[in-house]
Amino acid sequence: MIEAKNLNKTYQMGQVKVEALRGVSLKIASGEFVAIVGASGSGKSTLMHVLGLLDRPDSGQYLLGGDNVTDLSDKELALVRNRLVGFVFQQFHLLPKMTALENAELPLIYAGKRHLKERAEKEIAGVGLKERMYHRPNEMSGGQQQRVAIARSLVNDPPIIFADEPTGNLDSKSKQEIVGILKDLNKKGKTIVIVTHESEIAACARRIITMRDGQIISDQYTPGESKSAPAVPVSENMVKDILSGSKSAVKGGIEFLDYLRQAVSAMLAHKMRAFLSILGILIGVAAVIAMLAIGQGAKESIEKQLSSLGSNLLIVRPGAMRSGGVALESGTTTRFTFEDAEEIKKLTDWVKDTTPSVRDRAQVVYANKNWNTLVEGVGVSYKELRSATPTVGRFFTPEEVQMRKKVALLGTTVVKELFGSANPIGESIKINLVNFKVIGILPEKGAAGHMDQDDTVIIPITTAMYRVFGKQYVDSIYVEASGPETADTAEEKINELIIKQHRLVTDDQKDSFQIRNMSDIKKTLESTTQTMSLLLGAIAAISLLVGGIGIMNIMLVSVTERTREIGLRKAIGANNKDIMTQFLIEAVLMSFIGGLSGVILGTVSSYIISVISGWSVRVSLSSVLLATIFSLVVGVVFGLWPAKQASRLNPIEALRYE
Ligand code: ADP
Ligand code: MG
Repeated sequence: MIEAKNLNKTYQMGQVKVEALRGVSLKIASGEFVAIVGASGSGKSTLMHVLGLLDRPDSGQYLLGGDNVTDLSDKELALVRNRLVGFVFQQFHLLPKMTALENAELPLIYAGKRHLKERAEKEIAGVGLKERMYHRPNEMSGGQQQRVAIARSLVNDPPIIFADEPTGNLDSKSKQEIVGILKDLNKKGKTIVIVTHESEIAACARRIITMRDGQIISDQYTPGESKSAPAVPVSENMVKDILSGSKSAVKGGIEFLDYLRQAVSAMLAHKMRAFLSILGILIGVAAVIAMLAIGQGAKESIEKQLSSLGSNLLIVRPGAMRSGGVALESGTTTRFTFEDAEEIKKLTDWVKDTTPSVRDRAQVVYANKNWNTLVEGVGVSYKELRSATPTVGRFFTPEEVQMRKKVALLGTTVVKELFGSANPIGESIKINLVNFKVIGILPEKGAAGHMDQDDTVIIPITTAMYRVFGKQYVDSIYVEASGPETADTAEEKINELIIKQHRLVTDDQKDSFQIRNMSDIKKTLESTTQTMSLLLGAIAAISLLVGGIGIMNIMLVSVTERTREIGLRKAIGANNKDIMTQFLIEAVLMSFIGGLSGVILGTVSSYIISVISGWSVRVSLSSVLLATIFSLVVGVVFGLWPAKQASRLNPIEALRYE
């Protein structure tokens, strides 16, 4: 069954070359029980690893069941190992967090035969551990652990069992038990190769091969024993059968559910560690959601304020353009009159409507209540221009403007201060000692910055100028451009018009009035909120990145810590892809859990923030999706490297790792 020709293996240790195998040739027939003995360092383990397909020889040829296996790929080797070979190690190599049964099941999982679970139970019972099936390795004696390892090596019913010093860590009673089990297995037809340095163990074998310095120095059959047990017939070309079978097999490998199960148990095994890396992602995702929500909320509330300004609004004012909020000192000021408003209105290609306005603070009195507020005198067009259609009552009429009627519309704040919850319509109030009749309530506009837009009273402009404030000129002219596109042109045209009308010549004079274009302000504000959202998003993304690096860190630690586990999994048939997928799924699972709880935390804290601070906050579906997808990407990206590292490990070196 086994035929090795001239195997060589050399290890390079620093400057020194260690020839672990020097031209080893041997044949082992089916049903044999072979003990390989020799001094420590003579190459026994190396030989066994090569024969067990855990390691490759540097040169030589190895035939298994007549098929050359020297040139198989890693993946093919893993498959052949899984089906044809069972290993028993000196250190047992059971996975500590799994029960005896789960340990024994592992090779089945890698064989894609999870449905054959009863086999693991049968083998555990076969080594006499039926009662301890659900115990973990640390609850068992060394002998019991080794019996679990034997059960594990048997579940896939491989024809060959390799055991490297299986009794090396055991007391003499357990030694006898283990040897007894191996002998029984051989009697049932398994081919057994056991490495040992104890002569009494070797004596139980049918054939003893002695090694020294990487060479076989003697090869003898034990007197009184038949050369081999009545062998179970093995098919010729068994390796070829397995390899071709795997290609057409229904399910050649491990299923997603198994990976998930393993990932969960790995996380449960290191709860604190998993929790901390989940926390990293959680905070990142929650930050992304909360910050985007704040950004979005701010944007929406600014947009609402902008629309309350009225659409396509331009404001013409005397005085120089303010720079940085400070009025520049200027010699001349252009003052405006009703006529200017009328002239501007004639620019019908760009201008839809205009209204002059005067404004000043004034004392408003109702009964015994007193309130200081901003009183603004405007024309009738104001109603449309500033979206000020009264919610209750009516706006004043052109006649009332003409007649300088003493009628007033109140902002909601003024209503509240003077009337409480009573109805103000028809009531009489005093503005700067002049009697007014309340005819309507203005729609609520909310705050603009720190200014309450509802703390205002609107009266006809004529009344304001001649009866209340005693002004001859208007303070400003509101202009509504005919559309958002024409606002800029309208600004230019109005500028030209005023320069012409007022015969402004010098630069100084031309600077003596200003036109504020609200659509510009709108654009500026929009780009500001955009920038703010981006900035917040960037901060949040950085915290996600940090969370991701945290996961990578944990995964790398976990790869190092679980090197031996990786080695074992490979020894029992896991291929590179299996290992890689296992670690990747673990990373993705962690970031997914982190992402999901981050979404919840982010949403909840957004609402808490909005309640506490009074900011408007808006959690959008897109930000939730973005954060979730981002956290998964983080899991994949940062899990990939550690997973790759893990999958690249050589099984033997991984098993030796301390
Ligand atoms: P045995 O099992 O008979 O004690 P081994 O087969 O483990 O011996 O080792 C044979 C020789 O190869 C020893 O000299 C050992 O130091 C060397 N050796 C084994 N594995 C390695 C390795 N991974 N790197 C370097 N040298 C090794
Ligand atoms: Mg050894």
